[in-house]
Amino acid sequence: MAVQSVEVWIGLGSNLDSPERQLELALAVLQQLALGDSLRCSSFYLSKALLADTVNERNGLQPDFVNAVVSMRTTLAPHDLLQQLQAIETLQGRVRDETTLRWSPRTLDLDILLYGEEQIDTPTLTVPHRGIRSREFVLYPMYELAPTLIIPQFGGLARLVKCCPMRGMKLLKDDRGEGDVESAS
Ligand code: AMP
Repeated sequence: MAVQSVEVWIGLGSNLDSPERQLELALAVLQQLALGDSLRCSSFYLSKALLADTVNERNGLQPDFVNAVVSMRTTLAPHDLLQQLQAIETLQGRVRDETTLRWSPRTLDLDILLYGEEQIDTPTLTVPHRGIRSREFVLYPMYELAPTLIIPQFGGLARLVKCCPMRGMKLLKDDRGEGDVESAS
C-alpha cells in the first residue's frame, strides 16, 4: 500500500565480508527506494559489537561493526519498507534462520529507526526501534545529520547523545572525514 511521502531513518550495520563495501552496496539500493534526491547518509563509524566478548560457536569472537544511518523520504508503507530492507539483507548474503543467534556477526543489518513521527508496535515491527535510545552507533550518526531531531517517545536527540557512552566508537578514516567523534556539547 502506498502512503504519502514520509521521512524515514534507517540504521545500517555490518561486521562480515568487507563491511564498508556491504554498506556501500546497500546505500546504492536504498538510493533507488528513496524519493528523488532525498537520501542523506551519515559518516561511517567503527563500533564495538553488542556482546563483543561473546564467543559464538560458529563465528568466534565478534569483529567490530561498520555503522551508518540514512534519512530519506519514501512512499512505502512501514511493513513494505521492512520487507524491502529484509530483501536487501538477503541479497547481500545475510543468513536468517533459527540457528543464527541474535547479535551474531552479520553481512548486513538494516533497521527502521524512525518512520516519520509514527509509533508502531506489531509482532514484526516496532518503531521507534527498541534500541534507538541506547545505541551509540545509531544516536551519534543521527546527531551528525539532525542535531535538533525529536524522537517520538524518547525526546530530544541531543540529550540522548549526551547520556550515551561511545564505547570506543570511532569515525572511520575515509572521504567522509576522520578522527574521533565529538560528543554533543
Ligand atoms: P535483527 O536480528 O536485529 O535484524 O532483528 C530482525 C527482526 O526484528 C525482524 O524479524 C523484524 O521483523 C524485527 N523488527 C522489529 N522492529 C524492527 C525495526 N524497527 N526494524 C527492523 N526490524 C525490526
